[in-house]
Amino acid sequence: MATIFTKIMNKEIPAAIVYEDEHCFAFRDINPQAPVHILLIPRKEIPTMNDVTPEDAKILGHLMVKAPEIAKKEGIADKGYRLVFNTNAHAGQTVSHIHLHIIGGRSMSWPPG
Ligand code: AMP
Repeated sequence: MATIFTKIMNKEIPAAIVYEDEHCFAFRDINPQAPVHILLIPRKEIPTMNDVTPEDAKILGHLMVKAPEIAKKEGIADKGYRLVFNTNAHAGQTVSHIHLHIIGGRSMSWPPG
């Protein structure tokens, strides 16, 4: 089912777009948790990581290639950053369209809360 992220991709609601191509779309998180907080999403509407199938391997691989490219462009790659797919309630997923959080620009603790 379409979410707010589809509306952002379709430019029906505004967002600070960072990158887009035929397979993926990246924009700044509206509630950033660090100096750089970008959401990288596939154009394909996949609700959660649990719904990924082998046919999605190319799309997921594409996200993993693009994420470090974006991190480098944002100037956070050398010092480090975090890539996160929150999945379902225990992880705090709030939007049912998989999204890779690219978070950086400050030191982070581990384990996450
Ligand atoms: P998650 O909690 O992992 O599902 O992440 C959803 C993220 O989407 C949160 O970090 C929100 O701040 C972010 N978000 C929700 N609505 C928007 C929006 N309209 N534009 C940008 N980011 C959004």
